[in-house]
Amino acid sequence: MRTGWLEDTIASKETITGMSGGVELTDTGCPFFARCPLAIEGTCDTQAPPRRIDGDDHVIECHREVDELLGGG
Ligand code: SF4
Repeated sequence: MRTGWLEDTIASKETITGMSGGVELTDTGCPFFARCPLAIEGTCDTQAPPRRIDGDDHVIECHREVDELLGGG
């Protein structure tokens, strides 16, 4: 295993997704609010995201619709 592969992978994923930084554990809202490029101020920071299950049985917890998350928004 190559030294530094994890750091390189994290940096690469952050570049692709536009996300960076850590997850902030809070009592309210979504823990990804501080680093999410699709965050809705006044909603994501104050309300826990709703849980849904898509057609492939994937669990999604987000205030955005699936097509918004996929860029079709
Ligand atoms: S609920 Fe969804 S859109 Fe809102 S901050 Fe969390 S991941 Fe981003």
